Amino acid sequence: MKKKFNKNYLEKYSRQIVLKDIGILGQKKISLSKILIIGLGGLGCPAVDYLCRAGVGQVGLVDFDKVSLSNIHRQGMYNSQDVGKLKVDVIYTKIKKIDPDIKIIKHKAKITNKNFDKIAKKYDVIIDGTDNFRTKFLLNEGSLKLKKFFISGSISRFDGHIFTFDFKNKNEPCLKCFYQELPPDDVLNCESDGILGPVAGVVGNLQAIEAIKKICHIGKNLSSNILILNLKDLKFRKVKFKKKKNCIC
Ligand SMILES: [Zn+2]
Repeated sequence: MKKKFNKNYLEKYSRQIVLKDIGILGQKKISLSKILIIGLGGLGCPAVDYLCRAGVGQVGLVDFDKVSLSNIHRQGMYNSQDVGKLKVDVIYTKIKKIDPDIKIIKHKAKITNKNFDKIAKKYDVIIDGTDNFRTKFLLNEGSLKLKKFFISGSISRFDGHIFTFDFKNKNEPCLKCFYQELPPDDVLNCESDGILGPVAGVVGNLQAIEAIKKICHIGKNLSSNILILNLKDLKFRKVKFKKKKNCIC
């Protein structure tokens, strides 16, 4: 959606526009960006919240789930009154309060290889907030095919992983280059393994930062690296990996 760069708009985003790396030009790029967030849980909530506050033009929301009481300790877009409501509907209402001009498209659906192209094709950036590797592999392959900028996050206990891939770049590896096969423990199960709430916030916010950097062409994205966060011991490390021969990418 086209934003009006009037006095009110400039005041709203003034602390961001004053950043030399962003400025009016960067803010304009953000206002024209289209971001798809798949999975509105622990990662999707902080990512969508900060991206909408940053002034993105359009967001797509993909989730088929309803808010449960056990979501609230880490999924900051929901409160106790939202239990039982569809996540896409609750987030739609919250975003409209942050920015009434933002264009929001709701997809109350489970993402599959049949609906991915249709849902994802109009977006610049795809953010993966899902909790299982089968879906992450599907999003990786779909984003690769459509040459999208793909940001994948995972969380468990006190730990987080982030990947970003620019599939417009032919030399870019993909998620499958790193894992090769589906990890035996397919589901990152917050129910059985547990998760410290703020860990989700850290990783989801890093995904939002990677998206804004890409949109504004600032800094360095992770590309060809995985960022591994151990928040119990506060250790962050990047591990470089290469494109594998005979991979799908
Ligand atoms: Zn690959």
